[in-house]
Amino acid sequence: QSGRCLIRSLNTTLDHNSCFIEATSSPALEFLLQARTQDDWYEPPEQGRTTLLHTEQGPIAVTEFALSDYVGDRDGHEVSVGRVMIWKSASEIVQDLRDKTWLNIIYATVGFILIELALFLGIRLALRQLEQTVDDRTHEIQALNAQLEEIAHKDMLTGLYSRRFFMERLEQELNRTRRLKLPSALLMLDVDHFKKVNDTWGHQAGDAVLSALGRVIRDGCRNYDIAGRYGGEEFCILLPGVSVDDAMQKAEKLRKSVQDEVIIPGSAGTTATISVGVAPYAESMSTEEWLKAADNALYKAKNTGRNKVVQAIHIS
Ligand code: GH3
Ligand code: MG
Ligand code: MG
Repeated sequence: QSGRCLIRSLNTTLDHNSCFIEATSSPALEFLLQARTQDDWYEPPEQGRTTLLHTEQGPIAVTEFALSDYVGDRDGHEVSVGRVMIWKSASEIVQDLRDKTWLNIIYATVGFILIELALFLGIRLALRQLEQTVDDRTHEIQALNAQLEEIAHKDMLTGLYSRRFFMERLEQELNRTRRLKLPSALLMLDVDHFKKVNDTWGHQAGDAVLSALGRVIRDGCRNYDIAGRYGGEEFCILLPGVSVDDAMQKAEKLRKSVQDEVIIPGSAGTTATISVGVAPYAESMSTEEWLKAADNALYKAKNTGRNKVVQAIHIS
């Protein structure tokens, strides 16, 4: 009214939470004015300042900003006296803060639990994949080891077991035969006049004969038969669970296959022949005795004409 006052209130009721834009003083703000010192009132900071005022209506937080573009001349000052004031009940601020704090705690807790859960599941998944990879690699290595072991135990030329490995298996099978009281038979076979094969058609032809003989033996064996190269042109076949009669039949079949199929290279159709000694397992025999029995039968086959199968006679 004096022409020097300009009051604009965004909230004319001026309650606890409100805003006020002032160019000079205003009687409408008495309750605030009473609660503060005159000095503070005339120096509103440009960056804003919040102070706590104790009013009759309780504590109130007031934030003031200077209106930098308003220059009044109240009390003869040619300085900025305008300000923007925003205030709010302090107890409500505290309550808000408390509510927000709880909300933040809940958010943080839920966030923490979710992160922990994600980490836990992620780690479990990664562990499972790692386990799977380790399992796969272990199986691959085991398969490779089995292959390597198989190769290490085999004779290159014939594809049959080496003598050393055959002897190990013979020992194992002897124990099994004893324990289970099963019949078992051991075949020992030798190529007839092999020296002559080498001398006539060459060492390479001799090798080819041994290789072909190895194939015939492998083809004639069941999964659980054990065949090994016992010496240069001497072979052993163990037939677990096979009676002497069946072993004799099998040996005869083998002898015939060799005679029919194992053609000496460069010989225009001459085939190799073998002699076979068959020794059935007799109770309380050692491996040496068993081998000796088969060898004796083989010796007899050699001495009685070759290209034949002879059964061992057990002297108890
Ligand atoms: P027998 O009918 O009495 O068994 O007469 P044999 O000539 O077969 O027997 P002998 O023991 O006199 O000769 C075996 C020959 O086998 C001598 C050896 O040079 C030959 N030999 C041994 N190992 C190999 C081999 O790996 N390759 C070749 N080509 N010959 C071999
Ligand atoms: Mg021979
Ligand atoms: Mg021999």
